[in-house]
Amino acid sequence: MTNASALPGWNHVYSGKVRDLYRPDDAGDERMLVVASDRVSAFDHVLSPGIPGKGALLTSLSLWWFAQLAGADGGRALPNHLTGDAPPAPVADRAMVVRSLEMQPIECVVRGYLTGSGWVEYQAAGTVCGIALPAGLSNGDRLPEPIFTPAYKAPLGEHDENISFARTEELVGAERAAELRDTSLEIYARAAAAAEAKGLILADTKFEFGVDAGGILTLADEVLTSDSSRYWDAQTWAAGGTPEQRMASFDKQIVRDWLAANWDRTGTPPELPTEIAQRTAAKYRELLERMTS
Ligand code: ATP
Ligand code: MG
Repeated sequence: MTNASALPGWNHVYSGKVRDLYRPDDAGDERMLVVASDRVSAFDHVLSPGIPGKGALLTSLSLWWFAQLAGADGGRALPNHLTGDAPPAPVADRAMVVRSLEMQPIECVVRGYLTGSGWVEYQAAGTVCGIALPAGLSNGDRLPEPIFTPAYKAPLGEHDENISFARTEELVGAERAAELRDTSLEIYARAAAAAEAKGLILADTKFEFGVDAGGILTLADEVLTSDSSRYWDAQTWAAGGTPEQRMASFDKQIVRDWLAANWDRTGTPPELPTEIAQRTAAKYRELLERMTS
């Protein structure tokens, strides 16, 4: 596993499964450095080896989307957490300098299609996060309209938990909850339209917002990457077939499939074959190229 680098002027404060966070040496400086590693996780384990170039590819995609949502796509300018400062040279291609915000404890998930944990709840109850859906939907189907399906951001080591909108209102207040929902649905609509123009389906995605010192809701974390979103090829999806065929994706599905076939989920996962890591890297690269060209 890649360890967090030592970066002059910055102190390493936290490592998630994928990213390393730093604060400036100067305690009065309210910025933060978010460095994306090549680490890949599946089934809640960080795997070895990493995916070559993944941190840089996902950072490029995130930065491209932040620019689109700041108005490059013709929509209104959404505030985001980027300061515009250049990250330190050793991590220049895979890091972002951001404003440190008060993060909202909600993962703002928007789904335009039914799959994943939404599909699991739908099969059991006919709902997703308490929202009733039409009967007879299959795994991978398009929803009548995109839905906001928030999750509570669990403390470290615990699983995020899907919650209702009413619970979201209890957690952050009715006004902020409505703002989170409306902004998330707006971003999803803009992004899904941009993806569609490139022959891609943005099936679902997750946003994280913070609040700045002035109380302004600000888009934070990573945005619309293949770690936070499901992208499918529109032609492949339309051709039909099994759910697996329809939902051929641009993320670590290759890793998940290989692991599911080669590991019984007890103990430490096996080393990924080089070929699997390289094929996954190629998928991440293909998504970036298709989306941004
Ligand atoms: P994991 O992804 O391993 O489950 P994680 O989400 O905590 O855990 P990362 O995604 O690696 O870890 O780290 C990013 C962390 O930084 C998240 O906790 C995210 O909420 C936080 N974060 C992102 N942007 C900001 C910001 N502008 N200000 C403060 N915190 C932020
Ligand atoms: Mg995260």
